[in-house]
Amino acid sequence: MIKTATDKYQDIRDAVRALCAEFPDEYHRKIDEQRAYPEAFVDALTKAGWLAALIPQEWGGSGLGLAEASVIMEEINRSGGNSGACHGQMYNMGTLLRHGSQAQKALYLPKIASGEWRLQSMGVTEPSTGTDTTKIKTTAVKKGDRYVINGQKVWISRVQHSDWMILLARTTPLADVKKKSEGMSIFMVDLRQAEKSGMTVRPIPNMVNHETNELFFENLEIPEENLIGQEGQGFKYILDGLNAERTLIAAECIGDGYWFIDRVTRYVSERVVFGRPIGQNQGVQFPIAEAYIEIEAANLMRYKACELFDAQQPCGAQANMAKYLAAKASWEAANACIQFHGGFGFANEYDIERKFRETRLYQVAPISTNLILSYVAEHQLGLPRSF
Ligand SMILES: Cc1cc2nc3c(=O)[nH]c(=O)nc-3n(C[C@H](O)[C@H](O)[C@H](O)COP(=O)(O)OP(=O)(O)OC[C@H]3O[C@@H](n4cnc5c(N)ncnc54)[C@H](O)[C@@H]3O)c2cc1C
Repeated sequence: MIKTATDKYQDIRDAVRALCAEFPDEYHRKIDEQRAYPEAFVDALTKAGWLAALIPQEWGGSGLGLAEASVIMEEINRSGGNSGACHGQMYNMGTLLRHGSQAQKALYLPKIASGEWRLQSMGVTEPSTGTDTTKIKTTAVKKGDRYVINGQKVWISRVQHSDWMILLARTTPLADVKKKSEGMSIFMVDLRQAEKSGMTVRPIPNMVNHETNELFFENLEIPEENLIGQEGQGFKYILDGLNAERTLIAAECIGDGYWFIDRVTRYVSERVVFGRPIGQNQGVQFPIAEAYIEIEAANLMRYKACELFDAQQPCGAQANMAKYLAAKASWEAANACIQFHGGFGFANEYDIERKFRETRLYQVAPISTNLILSYVAEHQLGLPRSF
């Protein structure tokens, strides 16, 4: 492994690395080839308590900060795994924690902490509205003590490996609200129950081994006690959760970035062409060094975001910038890694093409790079709103 400074999280790093070492490259490669879910890996992480890092101790979690949680995600990706299979379990519950009632927290959080229930899914994106979330068309209409859901979602991940999903739906039509961000609400959806009574799941085969789906709702009934927080405030609640999600995904990209740098530095030191290691050529060294510099810089922004988040300070800009920098840096590292492995970079057995596909996703999801640039332009630089 390339040298990275030891930090105060070394104990966590060592423990997560030890667990991940039980799931070597062959394990992740086979799961990817079979388009399967890494059940044994996710189970081991759950049983060891790592996915409950952000749940307070009073609800059965370990009550760690975002910095520690981000180190867990980083180490999974640095070890060759893909946190995308399970990161939802770590951060989706934040919405419940911040906005749920005491009764809801008491019902859900201990079971999520123990892993008895998985809350791995969040249903926001819709096919016809994309990033323009306030235009969502899925509706939740109150009828007696239930809400009736109709509409469609797309790209909703881990539905087949989750017990619960947080769903964003319109409770007041867009035309009847003062601000477009009002009138949306979030609900806990019991997924197995929903599949029997109004929700259809259609898996989307995709470039990454990422279990993601189209969802169709036809008169799905949800008990009113599954509404989280106040009706009409759901969009704000979702936004509240994004800083943690962005920062954790930044850490995953940083883990990926180090993984690529580890692999490529080792390979170019050993591979001899024209009578010398290819890593002796500056044309090979420089793109690798450049990617490494960018990963290190992204890492600083990731810790800045964590520090502010853990101090309960505003951190929207830092979380977004960390995600932007880290996704870009891991992508540069991935490019250098595949390039300098020559033809071997494309062979499945080297795992590079798999990690290359996996890290590419983070330029688009959970938020595209352009939308981060637009956030920074408007919120940090005070430039006029473009939409
Ligand atoms: C594998 C995968 C898993 C996902 N998991 C989930 C999930 O679990 N839950 C969920 O709700 N969603 C999920 N998503 C959806 C994801 O969040 C969206 O794909 C992403 O936010 C981009 O939205 P879109 O695909 O609708 O793209 P669009 O909104 O159609 O945008 C397409 C592209 O256009 C550009 N663009 C759009 N608007 C602007 C603008 N105003 N200015 C400049 N550029 C612009 C951006 O570059 C963007 O990438 C997932 C997506 C993928 C691919």
